[in-house]
Amino acid sequence: MQDEKIYIIGHKNPDLDSVAAAISYAQFKNKTENTDKYIPAVLGKINQETEFILNKFDFPVPEILENASGKKIILVDHNEEKQSVDNIKDADILELVDHHKLNFSYHEPITINIKPLGATCSIIFQEFQKKDLEINKNLAGLMLGAILVDTVITKSPTCTEEDKNIIKRLSDILALENWYEFGLEIFKVRSSVAQFSEEEIIKSDFKDFDFNGQKVGIGQVETVALDEFEDRQEKLLEKLRDIKEQENYHTVVLFITDIIKEGSLFLVISEDEAKFNQAFETKLENKKVYLENILSRKKQVAPFLEKIF
Ligand code: MN
Ligand code: MN
Repeated sequence: MQDEKIYIIGHKNPDLDSVAAAISYAQFKNKTENTDKYIPAVLGKINQETEFILNKFDFPVPEILENASGKKIILVDHNEEKQSVDNIKDADILELVDHHKLNFSYHEPITINIKPLGATCSIIFQEFQKKDLEINKNLAGLMLGAILVDTVITKSPTCTEEDKNIIKRLSDILALENWYEFGLEIFKVRSSVAQFSEEEIIKSDFKDFDFNGQKVGIGQVETVALDEFEDRQEKLLEKLRDIKEQENYHTVVLFITDIIKEGSLFLVISEDEAKFNQAFETKLENKKVYLENILSRKKQVAPFLEKIF
């Protein structure tokens, strides 16, 4: 008789760490127990960077688990019932591997492995190390990608020294000289706006303000690759012009923030450009200007414009 399957699942709205943790922990369990009964699964559609990494390192998209009722389950990268599969209450939970705050209770003792590391994949890396199990190149790439995303390429305050060590060791397996570049590549896929129209880009995070009786609209987009917008600047300006005319704005601003370079490219259509120039002590050239260290609409953009009006 075949062994009963054991599903390893991350959270709903799966991110790369939850998918990579399910896959890598399934490999770990199958190897240590010399079986193939551990199956990675996902709770829904995977995101663009997960698809990119699975493709790059030759992993199939895990099967979707829709109902856990009566199934044997291992939870990774989450522990809260609300974030988990439907009917988790009727499942047989065997284990938990996570790096989030614990909000979990169960009717019998199980193995729980929670550590304050930057990614669940870092914890799973440690498990491979403890058993002296090999991590092949593809698996190293998958786990490295997950750790780089969860730690925002080590910039997140959740990134520990141990995560940084693990990033180096996984990079060694991959013979990857520059993990930072690899991280940027993933974030580029993640923040890609290639499939969005100019209007969708502008309106994705757009707020209206009333500055001394004048209607001002300020939109913001975040990116790790300003050059992705290079070819679209003129079209974005055209769309901003349309919006200004049709909706009677005094000024519309779109600023594209590069979270890595920590600065923003401003595109501005205004009745009176001088106001913008004065507010930021700058000079728009062809309705555009790049300003360093400006990242926040709430703290650094809206209040300075308001003061000038
Ligand atoms: Mn996650
Ligand atoms: Mn995670």
